[in-house]
Amino acid sequence: MGTGYMFKCIKCEHEYEVSIGIGAFFPTEYEKCVKDIMRGKLGDEWKSIFLNNSAAVDAKKYLYLCKSCGNWKVDRSYSVYIYEYELFPKSLCLYSYNIDDTYKFVKSYYHKCSKCGKRMSKVNTNHDLSISLACPKCGKENYYHEILMWD
Ligand SMILES: [Zn+2]
Ligand SMILES: [Zn+2]
Repeated sequence: MGTGYMFKCIKCEHEYEVSIGIGAFFPTEYEKCVKDIMRGKLGDEWKSIFLNNSAAVDAKKYLYLCKSCGNWKVDRSYSVYIYEYELFPKSLCLYSYNIDDTYKFVKSYYHKCSKCGKRMSKVNTNHDLSISLACPKCGKENYYHEILMWD
């Protein structure tokens, strides 16, 4: 399921959105995500984990916030998991996107702040998004004014 938080800047009226969770085209997005890993887009370590294991990646979108400078972004988690039971051929597991108990967490991806270079942290939005986020246009901090949900 996905959730969208709509923002409207109280200073410049710019509208921006934070869309997190699973999108409607998730299986396709998941495949694209695995292809990116195989192409080395997320670094050699991620590629080699996928080459050598029945691995899965958390392709859901989350909100990341830099606690140093307030910069934020929406991005996939890219945490990697390894399938623990070799009951099924590798090819079946590769594009599986239900990361359940049969997968063991391996490593979380380092989300680096594009402004100050520090590590960004994942914001827990399970219940509500209660923090203010800076307007991408003018920098004014705003709270969301509308929630959108989809399956
Ligand atoms: Zn920063
Ligand atoms: Zn603004």
